[in-house]
Amino acid sequence: MDLKIDHIGIAVKDLVGVVNEFKKVFEQEDPGYYEVESQKVKAAIFKAGDVRLEFLSGTAPDSPISLHIEKRGQGIQHIAFKVENLEKAVEDLKSRGVRFIGEPSIGAEGKKVIFIHPSAFGMLVELCEESHC
Ligand code: ZN
Repeated sequence: MDLKIDHIGIAVKDLVGVVNEFKKVFEQEDPGYYEVESQKVKAAIFKAGDVRLEFLSGTAPDSPISLHIEKRGQGIQHIAFKVENLEKAVEDLKSRGVRFIGEPSIGAEGKKVIFIHPSAFGMLVELCEESHC
C-alpha cells in the first residue's frame, strides 16, 4: 500500500484564535472553513505543500473533538491517509482484522472518510478517498 498523508487533524479550543495566530506567524491567507454537522465539528484548512493542516474545534460539548480535548488536551488528533477507493480499502482492511469507528461518511471538504479504531496504532487514523481529497 502506497501511503500518502492527505492531512493532519489538530484539535484546538479556540479555532479563530489559532487560525489568526497561524496566519500571522506563517504569513498565510485565510484558510478554507468547513463545518461537519454530523460530527459537530468546525474545520479550518491550510495547505502545507502536499499535506493540509486541518484545525478542528467542536461545536458542542459531546463533539468528538471536544471530548478529545477534555481527555487528552489540544494537539494532533488524527493523521489522514489517501486511498484510491475507500470502500475497497475498508473491505480489504476489515478482512485483515482492522477495526473501524462507524461507517464511511462525508467529512470536511465533502471528502469520503472513515476512521480506524485508535487501538490499532495508539492514534486515530483517517482514510480519505483520493478523488475527493
Ligand atoms: Zn481529517
